[in-house]
Amino acid sequence: MATDTDHTFDIVVIGLGPGGEYLAGTLAERGLRVLAVDRNLVGGECPYWGCIPSKMMIRAADSLAEARRVEGLAGSVGEVRPDWSVVAKRIREEATDSWNDQVAVDRLTKKGATVLHGTGRITGPGEVDVDGTTYAATKGVVVNPGTTPSVPPIEGLRETPYWTNHEIIEADELPDSLVVLGGGAIGCELSQVMARFGVEVTVVEAADRILSLEEPEASEKLVAALEADGITVRTGVGAEKVSHDGSSFTITLADGSTLEAERLLVATGRRADPAAVGLDAVGVPSDARTAPVDDRCRVTDGVWAVGDITGKGAFTHVSMYQAGIVVRDVLGDDGPPAEYAALPRVTFTDPEVGAVGMTEAQAREKLANVEVGVTPLGETTRGWIAKADGFIKVVADADRGILVGATAMGPAGGEVLGALAVAVHGQVPVDRLRSMIYAYPTLHRGIETALAQLD
Ligand SMILES: Cc1cc2nc3c(=O)[nH]c(=O)nc-3n(C[C@H](O)[C@H](O)[C@H](O)COP(=O)(O)OP(=O)(O)OC[C@H]3O[C@@H](n4cnc5c(N)ncnc54)[C@H](O)[C@@H]3O)c2cc1C
Repeated sequence: MATDTDHTFDIVVIGLGPGGEYLAGTLAERGLRVLAVDRNLVGGECPYWGCIPSKMMIRAADSLAEARRVEGLAGSVGEVRPDWSVVAKRIREEATDSWNDQVAVDRLTKKGATVLHGTGRITGPGEVDVDGTTYAATKGVVVNPGTTPSVPPIEGLRETPYWTNHEIIEADELPDSLVVLGGGAIGCELSQVMARFGVEVTVVEAADRILSLEEPEASEKLVAALEADGITVRTGVGAEKVSHDGSSFTITLADGSTLEAERLLVATGRRADPAAVGLDAVGVPSDARTAPVDDRCRVTDGVWAVGDITGKGAFTHVSMYQAGIVVRDVLGDDGPPAEYAALPRVTFTDPEVGAVGMTEAQAREKLANVEVGVTPLGETTRGWIAKADGFIKVVADADRGILVGATAMGPAGGEVLGALAVAVHGQVPVDRLRSMIYAYPTLHRGIETALAQLD
């Protein structure tokens, strides 16, 4: 907590998600007087209720699935008995320090920043209120307040003890059954974890497919994978009513059918609120859903925004990328402006879905001449050996002769994605990509055969 009585700083950072924490520390190390404010834990969602604990859960669930694959490949391992307490302990002790941010506070303080736990709000140019105390920011204010779970207006839902990502990640014990509202990346990842630990899971997605922002082929294959894990996937039907009788939930769907479950997880997206952090005081419309930023992440003179609130991609890597741009802008250093054409994203299901840039449908909407190539993983030697399901798809702008998007779905799809992200970001000519040597027998050799299908 701040003991500083000086209320004037060069930079005030409101919200310390991954980007805010990084830039507060970096600017302090560069000698600026930085006030870093968070109303909860320094580091934000990612280390405490997001990426890191969820990936720990996924690693554990994948190890169970891998053990079960011994049969058919290598013999038998006897009975595989899941024990959630091992995962819960690891999340508590190794990932989150029992949801305590003292280590992060100390790290930031050591870099020279003044850290304050409290709720910050811009009240005017260069002026911030933190729980009733006014601070001046002579160089400017950076907001990194993230998002909160978006809870849909379903009759009865708000009166029930539904779970969000916070409760499921903090869970010491798992329920017998779970309904997951929302078939996006978070809903799919957590559903698969739960199912692999023996929970009876139903996913309800109002859109006509899960992972609706990615390629349809990925949605189709992921449904098959989730079903193989025993998950029931209901698409094209939303929930209309939710009730809780003290021990279990009843969810009534739009088609009149009902689902019963011990727990209900709401994973229907995230909501940003720019006005809550005071961006309306510097000209952002009070009903704006995201903070409008230019290619230096400036909202207006002396105000920057980074992370989920910018609407450029709700990922830790976007938050960190934008933080780097803000650091340079504040310090007056040169550097490339923000660009998002090669935005990578990974859904860490098994199989993993790694994607970069545009999907085929997005490309066809924007470009006159689009070509695609698809390699089923089973047609690569390594995919066949591994009995791996998935595909590699490349989307090319035929007029420019470059890739504008790609998907790698399969084991380590997010790693195979690396090569495709370089191609899209670097705008490497397709002919040049075709002329390179692809190691044998790798999954990424599927890129070569997908490229061969382009004219
Ligand atoms: C279950 C789950 C899994 C995820 N997995 C991944 C993944 O694998 N990879 C990935 O890239 N991303 C993942 N994400 C997304 C990732 O967590 C976020 O994109 C990331 O945390 C970046 O968010 P942010 O920088 O906008 O801020 P956040 O991390 O949301 O942090 C914002 C901080 O601001 C604080 N705050 C808000 N308002 C105020 C205020 N007025 N005053 C003071 N403090 C305030 C909050 O307390 C919080 O600490 C996942 C998210 C979830 C929920």
